[in-house]
Amino acid sequence: MSALPASPTTYSLFDHLICSACRQPYTPAVLHTLSPCCHMPLLAQYTLTGGPDKRILLHREGTMWRYREVLPVFSAAHQISLGEGFTPMLGLNRLGAANGFSDLWLKDEGKNPTGSFKARGLSMAISKAHEYGVEGCIIPTAGNAGVAMAAYCARAAMQAVVVMPRHTPKAFQEECYWYGADVHLIDGLINDCAAKVRQLNSSGQWLDLSTLKEPYRIEGKKTMGYEIAEQMNWQLPDVILYPAGGGTGLIGIWKAFREMQQLGWLPADIRLPRMVAVQAENCQPLVDTWLGKQPNAQQYNGKPTLANGLAVPRPIGEPLMLNVLHESRGLTLGISEADMVDSVREIGKTEGVFLAPEGAALWTAARQLLRQGWLSATDRVLLLNTGNGQKYLDNLRPFLTD
Ligand SMILES: *Cc1c(COP(=O)(O)O)cnc(C)c1O
Ligand SMILES: [Zn+2]
Repeated sequence: MSALPASPTTYSLFDHLICSACRQPYTPAVLHTLSPCCHMPLLAQYTLTGGPDKRILLHREGTMWRYREVLPVFSAAHQISLGEGFTPMLGLNRLGAANGFSDLWLKDEGKNPTGSFKARGLSMAISKAHEYGVEGCIIPTAGNAGVAMAAYCARAAMQAVVVMPRHTPKAFQEECYWYGADVHLIDGLINDCAAKVRQLNSSGQWLDLSTLKEPYRIEGKKTMGYEIAEQMNWQLPDVILYPAGGGTGLIGIWKAFREMQQLGWLPADIRLPRMVAVQAENCQPLVDTWLGKQPNAQQYNGKPTLANGLAVPRPIGEPLMLNVLHESRGLTLGISEADMVDSVREIGKTEGVFLAPEGAALWTAARQLLRQGWLSATDRVLLLNTGNGQKYLDNLRPFLTD
């Protein structure tokens, strides 16, 4: 394991890591992967009580690095940034009014570098890797994470090895090439790519950036939670719909809300949003566990979906996602391929935003939940669009009509 130089001087309040299963603490002085104790994700912990006032944000840059005190990178010299974060928060007034919603919002993560919210996680993970002196990284990916890793590795002068399913739209494969990454195509889903990663990396020469197998991607993703609060002037939505694959975004946003309560940036007794994890019917391990059809997702078999980022059949973060759904009084549901396509088109032509199918699935889910009475017309509802539709043209082309 690489070690950090002794006692960095820093603005970061990052203190230690804990095992998400048993809370065993670990030092951040060395680079970690899964917890040695339980083989589960590690979570960064900060010294938040007595932390800074949220007024520090007033004159900060419009990127996720504006939250540097609650991020794990110790020195600005190690920030590997392409301007990620602080994405638009758009009111969907026309779409909302036409469908019975009076307070409907979209946070558009498709505006990030490399076209998805994966930029946040990979910017953070590569920055930390850079801080520890890592020289190369490897990742199994459904598409967006690989592209983001390739870009940030290029910027950090690190080697990048990306393993993705052969059926991934060409835009993802080719963009990795232009960033100088070594790309491997696999017949199968992301779990098959993960097996290939283990084989390619048997000597451990590259840092494995698989979802939640290193502790820092989630720290980048959590900045979405900080932004939601700040951009909504600290009045949180009643409900957040999120397209869940590996789950780092869902878990990260919730972690951010808890941290802001500890910091005093949000009242301790605030009513936090109900979190809805939206999946693709073709690959809905979380839904099946939620409905009691299986004890957990460890044996789940998924099929490919137009929403490539949701094809994660056996997410290691499943227990953490389920916790968020229970604590927030949320739920999970699966959306059909045809409904996603309809929603891409409806949002495109009504609001001028080209959503990834993952994000479009949220709109179908919101309408279903309103119809069922789980949502009410006056709820402030936030759709978190995770990616840009432009990368998915190969997937969507068969649905072009006249
Ligand atoms: C990866 C991805 C997801 C799933 O994100 P998780 O945080 O891993 O649950 C959703 N949408 C898009 C566009 C993605 O690339
Ligand atoms: Zn443990």
